[in-house]
Amino acid sequence: MNAWIEIDLGALAHNTATLRETMGDAVDVIAVVKANAYGAGAARFAFELQRLGVPRFAVVWTSEAVALREAGITKPIIVLGHSFPADAPIAVANGVTLTCHSLELGEALSRAATALERTALVHIKVDTGLHRFGVTLDEAVTLGGQLHQLPNLLVEGLTTHMANADEPDDSFADTQDALFAKAAARLPWIPYRHTANSATALRREGLRYQGIRSGLALHGVVPPNSPNPGLRPVLALRARLARVAEVEAGEGVSYGLTWRAERPSRVGLVPVGYADGWRRALGNMGSVLFNSVRCPMVGRVCMDQFLIDVTDQPAAVEGSVVTLLGADGAAGITADEVAAESGTISWDVLASLQARLPRLYVRDGLVEAITA
Ligand SMILES: *Cc1c(COP(=O)(O)O)cnc(C)c1O
Repeated sequence: MNAWIEIDLGALAHNTATLRETMGDAVDVIAVVKANAYGAGAARFAFELQRLGVPRFAVVWTSEAVALREAGITKPIIVLGHSFPADAPIAVANGVTLTCHSLELGEALSRAATALERTALVHIKVDTGLHRFGVTLDEAVTLGGQLHQLPNLLVEGLTTHMANADEPDDSFADTQDALFAKAAARLPWIPYRHTANSATALRREGLRYQGIRSGLALHGVVPPNSPNPGLRPVLALRARLARVAEVEAGEGVSYGLTWRAERPSRVGLVPVGYADGWRRALGNMGSVLFNSVRCPMVGRVCMDQFLIDVTDQPAAVEGSVVTLLGADGAAGITADEVAAESGTISWDVLASLQARLPRLYVRDGLVEAITA
């Protein structure tokens, strides 16, 4: 393998247990496994979480939910994003819970559920200030009443999403929660309420309601400005050097020759590029670990490869393993660090990791499964 992602199932179990302990027995940890489980491979990642007893899952597209069903996920799956009425039959056939924003979608779900002699579950999302998705408070009350009348349809959940969850000042969550509480008071018959992502769940005990929607924290990456209950990073990205070459002082490397050797140097070729989700912005900025020692990335990141300076690492040769993300002995590179170096956020670093990288699921140092 040129490069691969390692998913530490022990760390995942630890994080799941830690979050459950922190949230308490009355609060579900809803595993958010959208976007290929933030790069970890949704099918296997979710299957492991189901084995660990996670009671609910959430994704953003209906197709993601259907893929999880095909992967053997039998627990409830909430689609957090928008769905069309045309999605109703497949959602009902797969027992997927949609976020319903219109009577038209509710009617389509009700019809599909009646035809299949099932009950379609839906959640209503209140837009309390993020102004991204959902319906207004008044619309939620009207829609709730209308959906309540439809046969074979059950409004199970009421939800919202916070705008400033991981900002230094998250006090806008109070404003949002006050609106959410109004909606809940006017729709008291809707039993399941959820408002918190990882940051809100960790920072605000009062906003946990019946379930918290956690993606990032399950990966052991703590959102900014949030307390760390002792989570451990789950993902590592490693590669084998494809070549180690000598360059003379003054010679440049990679497109545009933006890095020039100040001394006779050895450069190692890492077979990972921006097509794999390793950001072009990391060129001349980031570093990787070899034998727990940092080696700077030199020159531009290409689509499939980039270079590192291994002049001070005589043991680095073709085939040597380097760590781009995760622990290497006592050293480590965090998603936060890579995010800072590439001008983005940790969620983006993980979710950008692409399909070409094989996923290795590791337990107690042994590879349990590999998915392409
Ligand atoms: C992605 C997402 C989450 C999970 O957020 P994390 O910060 O990764 O825990 C929760 N809720 C909604 C609506 C989301 O889109």
